[in-house]
Amino acid sequence: MSQYGLRIPDPKNKKRVVVVGGGFGGMNLLKYLDEKVYQVVLFDRNNFHTFVPLLYQVATAGIEPDSIVDPLRNLLRKRVDTHFRMMKVLQVRPEAQEIDTAIGSLHYDYLIIATGTDANFYGNKNIESKALKLQTLQDSLNMRSRILQNFEMATLSNDHAERDRLTNFIIVGGGPTGVELAGTMAELREYVLPRDYPELDFGIMSIYLVHSRDYLLPYMPEKAGQQAAKFLREMGVEIILNTKVTDYDGHIATLDDGRTLDGECLIWCAGVQGLTIPGFPEESTERRNYLVDEFNQVQGVEHVFAIGDIALQKTEAYPDGHPGVAQTAIQQGKQLANNLMRLSRQQEMKPFHYTNRGTIATVGRNKAVANFLGKIRSGGWFAWFAWWVVHIYYLVGFRNKLGTLSNWILNYFSFRHSSRLIVRPFVRREDSEEQELFAKNIGA
Ligand SMILES: Cc1cc2nc3c(=O)[nH]c(=O)nc-3n(C[C@H](O)[C@H](O)[C@H](O)COP(=O)(O)OP(=O)(O)OC[C@H]3O[C@@H](n4cnc5c(N)ncnc54)[C@H](O)[C@@H]3O)c2cc1C
Repeated sequence: MSQYGLRIPDPKNKKRVVVVGGGFGGMNLLKYLDEKVYQVVLFDRNNFHTFVPLLYQVATAGIEPDSIVDPLRNLLRKRVDTHFRMMKVLQVRPEAQEIDTAIGSLHYDYLIIATGTDANFYGNKNIESKALKLQTLQDSLNMRSRILQNFEMATLSNDHAERDRLTNFIIVGGGPTGVELAGTMAELREYVLPRDYPELDFGIMSIYLVHSRDYLLPYMPEKAGQQAAKFLREMGVEIILNTKVTDYDGHIATLDDGRTLDGECLIWCAGVQGLTIPGFPEESTERRNYLVDEFNQVQGVEHVFAIGDIALQKTEAYPDGHPGVAQTAIQQGKQLANNLMRLSRQQEMKPFHYTNRGTIATVGRNKAVANFLGKIRSGGWFAWFAWWVVHIYYLVGFRNKLGTLSNWILNYFSFRHSSRLIVRPFVRREDSEEQELFAKNIGA
């Protein structure tokens, strides 16, 4: 018998709610779920909650990683019958009402799946093995290392073509993440990197943003995308529209019109797919998401709910599901907690209605485009400032709010991006040539 087990106490006369995922959906559900009524067990593969919208700031060395995460045990410390286990949930057995982990199974009365998404490479293994993605804190630290390593390597190279490749960046996908990254990279090129690397010629550094549609920010009206493109072009970003990247060998990206782009760093922001857990009947999922009804109940199984990015809830107003943004997860988490409380009182559940609070995308240091109630506003520092205030407001803990705010103010006024550190050099898994190079050259 194994010496390890989940070691969850008996819920006694209470029902047990098992929550998988301590992201926006899971943590907002917990906030409104009364543990006097339910025993709660939270599983997450990490021991921290991540404020995902600011990952790009960590990746580009603008903010310390600690500022955008909070340990889950810290967030749960005042709760007495909520039990956190840092474990990946591997499978669900809905007929037995049990989940399986590597070290044991657990019975649930209600199961809530809030596992979010990962990058979708649409089956392209070459791109998947050579590109960088930005979904987790680990990804953002890999990207930060990789960007800085490339500049360190460029200073060491005698070959002009290699120096060019090492300082070029190919960003794929013109959604908010691609747009934010492209803008921030352009600012690093303008204000920060030339001071750090005086031996390099930044005239050769290109930032490409490749997007498959005819305007950026496809989830916003066309005018917003055009404004974002205008801002980026003014900052020197080369925008390639109506084009897909079809291959990448780690040095050269191939486009679907036959053109190629040279770059040792390709960042993939072109799509996501749900992190579903095996064990559900076919009718429960569509496009790697759980199909849910108006109460967020997963179709085809009982006592199982899904919220946030992983849930596909088709309504008249949103026939393709709600937008994959933090607000959807936050609102669904709160609504489901209220519904579980209603169930405990033998009351009927209430259907979910999404409230659109508007969307803002930043383009660098003081430019942003916003869509409030269908009205597009684009502008300088005010829209950008609003974006930051909203994001800092939603950062989980007080410590993070304070840390992020002070980091940000310091950077804004001084351009002194303080976290340009290669703490753990990043080497692409399948690239042994590269591993050797970094192991030899940079204390890996
Ligand atoms: C780079 C980036 C930028 C974004 N910017 C914005 C923005 O500016 N504004 C906005 O509103 N939205 C933004 N989004 C979208 C937003 O982050 C998501 O909509 C939101 O995080 C969804 O919340 P969630 O609770 O569904 O999932 P998440 O917040 O992703 O949480 C999922 C949790 O589940 C855990 N998990 C996954 N699988 C398992 C498993 N098998 N077992 C245990 N734990 C598991 C994960 O570790 C994670 O903690 C951005 C997304 C990305 C990737």
